[in-house]
Amino acid sequence: MDSDGGASLPSACPDARKRRVSYFYEPTIGDYYYGQGHPMKPHRIRMAHNLIVHYGLHRRMEISRPFPAAFEDIRRFHSPEYVEFLSSVAPDTLLDHTHARQLRRFNVGEDCPVFDGLFDFCQASAGGSIGAAVKLNRQDADIAINWAGGLHHAKKSEASGFCYVNDIVLGILELLKVHRRVLYVDIDIHHGDGVEEAFYVTDRVMTVSFHKFGDFFPGTGHIKDVGVASGKYYALNVPLNDGLNDDNFRSLFRPIMQKVMEVYQPDAVVLQCGADSLSGDRLGCFNLSVKGHADCLRFLRSFNVPLMVLGGGGYTIRNVARCWCYETAVAVDVEPDNKLPYNEYYEYFGPDYTLHVEPSNMENLNTLRDLEKIRNMLLDQVSKLQHAPSTQFQTMPPTTEVPEERDEDMEVRPKPRIWNGEHDYESDEDEIDKPSVRSLNSEDAYGENIDMRGGSDTIKTEDTSDEQI
Ligand SMILES: [Zn+2]
Repeated sequence: MDSDGGASLPSACPDARKRRVSYFYEPTIGDYYYGQGHPMKPHRIRMAHNLIVHYGLHRRMEISRPFPAAFEDIRRFHSPEYVEFLSSVAPDTLLDHTHARQLRRFNVGEDCPVFDGLFDFCQASAGGSIGAAVKLNRQDADIAINWAGGLHHAKKSEASGFCYVNDIVLGILELLKVHRRVLYVDIDIHHGDGVEEAFYVTDRVMTVSFHKFGDFFPGTGHIKDVGVASGKYYALNVPLNDGLNDDNFRSLFRPIMQKVMEVYQPDAVVLQCGADSLSGDRLGCFNLSVKGHADCLRFLRSFNVPLMVLGGGGYTIRNVARCWCYETAVAVDVEPDNKLPYNEYYEYFGPDYTLHVEPSNMENLNTLRDLEKIRNMLLDQVSKLQHAPSTQFQTMPPTTEVPEERDEDMEVRPKPRIWNGEHDYESDEDEIDKPSVRSLNSEDAYGENIDMRGGSDTIKTEDTSDEQI
């Protein structure tokens, strides 16, 4: 199907101008492995990429392999001691005495284990988001995608919730070199705490997070948390409950974001597309379809502002791959066939082998009355914003200084965990993602060898895949 017959632009954007899409993919990303039974599986990014290639979407965008983020790049947000630790720790040095102490200090161990190639993984994830920002800064693309990014829980000196390096903060800092105001929108089921904290006191970045709130990781993101000092009213939190459906979500997302776009007038937008807000997620409890999730991207895309699109959570990996493939299609403005093309991971998608999945009949704990109340409170909050603040352009926003905690405190007060450590055997058919001979060969993903010098060289792909648009 030609793109003209595909996804139509909503009325907010009367022009049908094509967007130039730049896509970052590190072919070894799927080989990183957090450990047996761990819900975070970088393999899902390779599965998404594989679907993207088999739908022929790669021919509609520029594909780049990211430069690994350098130490200095990562240190623009993270503390030197923490970066030094991440780059030196390895599974076989864990018993080292100094490391044992640092593991507690930097919250590395349970949710955030030390695994082979940990720092390389962080460099690839962060390199993609920084590279995406550079593309947008140079106006070489209208939309830049990095599904290996979106790791929103990482703090300045601390790992959290499966995240070590906050590629989003690094990407936004890069965007701020050129753009006066950046809007960050987070649709992961968990609160986007690391990004909010980093920009809590500045009006140059506005953060908006939609998340499950109440007895749920990380515990922050109350509707009344709105930012402080110059950042007051430039943080927005949308607390939601179990069973949230497509209609509920749309009834909040569209009016709130419409108003934010009108009032804040960002020069660039970053959308974190965590897929753990989808129905049936292993750790999540919302009931969104892929189309309902992707509607956020469709809506933000319609404003025609430079847009960075990132991954994030997502623990039922067949649905993560479906979601990020479909969202890539939305970015390039095509409507893919619901029937999946044959691909390397076809067996994951049975018994239906379709791109879309139906939401479940789970109970919805969000009442229409609650949702209306939340919407009104937030619209009221946005109305308190200074209309498009003209911040001093050369000033970089300060990052929030959090006092270093003492070791004693850390031992008595455990950090919240995103995962209870229970092994879910039902969802572990995907344990077959363990690095295998096949998965170590990433040629299949591109259809040819790619230039191993790295960087933002454009990777040309051959027309060898079965295309189903
Ligand atoms: Zn999440």
